[in-house]
Parts: sequence; C-alpha cells; structure tokens
Amino acid sequence: MPESNPSLQSAVNDRLQSSPLRLTRKRTKILDALLTLDRPESAVEIRERAELPETDLVTVYRTMEAFESIGILQKVPLESGGHLFELIYPGDHHHHFVCRECHKAERLELCLFGELEKKAKNLGFVKVAHIMEIYGLCPECQ
Ligand SMILES: [Zn+2]
Ligand SMILES: [Zn+2]
Repeated sequence: MPESNPSLQSAVNDRLQSSPLRLTRKRTKILDALLTLDRPESAVEIRERAELPETDLVTVYRTMEAFESIGILQKVPLESGGHLFELIYPGDHHHHFVCRECHKAERLELCLFGELEKKAKNLGFVKVAHIMEIYGLCPECQ
C-alpha cells in the first residue's frame, strides 16, 4: 500500500476543520482509505481499503458527496456510468487517462482549460467548472 501524502493530508484536515462537516467513525475510515490511494479508485475498492465490508455503498457514496461539497474530493466519471474518487488539494482538480476495461486512471499533469474558463467568465458565467477525461485501453488490457 502506498504511503499517504502528508501535505495533502494536512491540507485536507485543515479544510475539514474549517467546514461544518462532522467526521463520523465511518467517514474517518473512508478518509484514511482515500489518503492511501495513488490513483482514483471505485467506491467498492475504497470501502474495502477502509475495512468497512458491512457498510452500504450508499453510505460510501454519501461520504464522497460530502467530501466533494467542501472541495477535497474529485469524482472521475467512467464512460460506462459510475465514478472513481480521489482526494484533491482544496479547490484543485486533475484530468486523467482512464482505461475503459480495468478502470485504471493515470493522472495528466496539465489542464488545458484555463483560457476557456476565462472566456466563460467574460461571457458572464459564474461558478465555472469543467470536466475532461480521456478514455482508452491501457497496455495490459489491449
Ligand atoms: Zn486496463
Ligand atoms: Zn482542468
């Protein structure tokens, strides 16, 4: 299991402490599991890492929604429906290459949409956001 990233952990904890979100025992376990990820993973995988086999997936999804609502979690949409999840620095985001077969997601270390977001703001849009993921078959799945 990869080591958790201490600076991401402290950024996420700071955000949590300044938010009204309550950290229940389950949410804490889910947060700890998210901190061990080195790439976005499914709710099933995260539940397993959190060692919460009895927990309803709906609870896991609700926790993801709660973390997303305070800007510390990103949902990565899959082509087939459903999502992968990863923690982010508050307000940050990533784009990914996603394998449509095994759902392995590799982070792209760039974002091409700054100019387009500026354009949207110039057109009077507020709360501007964007989603872009690239889907394909990874080397192992070809
Ligand atoms: Zn694959
Ligand atoms: Zn972007």
